[in-house]
Amino acid sequence: MIERTLGIIKPDGVARNLIGEVLRRVEQSGLRIAAARILKLDKAKAEGFYAVHKERPFFKDLVAYMTTGPVFPFVIEGENAIARWRELMGATNPANAAPGTIRKDFAANIERNTVHGSDAPETAKFEVAYFFKQEEIC
Ligand code: GDP
Repeated sequence: MIERTLGIIKPDGVARNLIGEVLRRVEQSGLRIAAARILKLDKAKAEGFYAVHKERPFFKDLVAYMTTGPVFPFVIEGENAIARWRELMGATNPANAAPGTIRKDFAANIERNTVHGSDAPETAKFEVAYFFKQEEIC
């Protein structure tokens, strides 16, 4: 099934000039970039995005980290895109991520883990719409 999912290059990835490297991996895997932008999240926008995690002990730190610098949200489209992008990313904790994944190659730790990816069709729908209007997705 052709799916759309949301990727984000997090502040540590943008700060280290990894936008091109991440997009290269997405495109080389056969997936397609359907929208992209760069912006700085304020506290409210970061809290809204991670609202499902608001009771977690790391929520405050996560929001603080996500507002430290620009992020690069982008829409990925393709067959089975949600699972394929999660595979390219690797496990949340880079220590557990498979060799050759983005998080294994670039992430500093479980929080500063370079990229985000939607984890299911419903979250993908919410997260894509959180950053992009319908007419901005091509
Ligand atoms: P993901 O779907 O792989 O991004 O992981 P989660 O949805 O579980 O967590 C969302 C984000 O919160 C992760 O990507 C990390 O940036 C951060 N995070 C997750 N677990 C922890 C943790 O135990 N400690 C801290 N400080 N941050 C975490």
